[in-house]
Amino acid sequence: MAIEARVCKRCRKLFMYNGNPICPTCVVMLDDAFVKVRSYIYDHPAHSLMEVCEETGVEEGIVLHLLREGRLSTHPDQPGLIVCEMCGTSIPSGMYCDECKVSMGKGLRSALPQEVSVDVQTQQTKIRVKKTY
Ligand SMILES: [Zn+2]
Ligand SMILES: [Zn+2]
Repeated sequence: MAIEARVCKRCRKLFMYNGNPICPTCVVMLDDAFVKVRSYIYDHPAHSLMEVCEETGVEEGIVLHLLREGRLSTHPDQPGLIVCEMCGTSIPSGMYCDECKVSMGKGLRSALPQEVSVDVQTQQTKIRVKKTY
């Protein structure tokens, strides 16, 4: 069995790769931060990201990481602490708001079905026909 040393994605220290992109120290630290931030958010709804960091002593980057990963999310009744990467609406967790997720899903789907390519072909044919006149 090969032992592979990797650089931790978080703290940039070398560690023995175990299938995780971050080192065991950071895993423990993230778990600890997760518990702290989660209990704080649940007890104190509708606070800013800054306040969460100050009160829990957890780095803003770590709180952001947990929220973006979807591990943590703010209460549905309170404004999100982070914003959608596409439109800037505040969201409770993840990268994008529901609306942007739906529109992205549509974008993906419309690229797949054959009906669309048939449509494009007929349009091209029409153009070609026009040009011959
Ligand atoms: Zn680390
Ligand atoms: Zn959005």
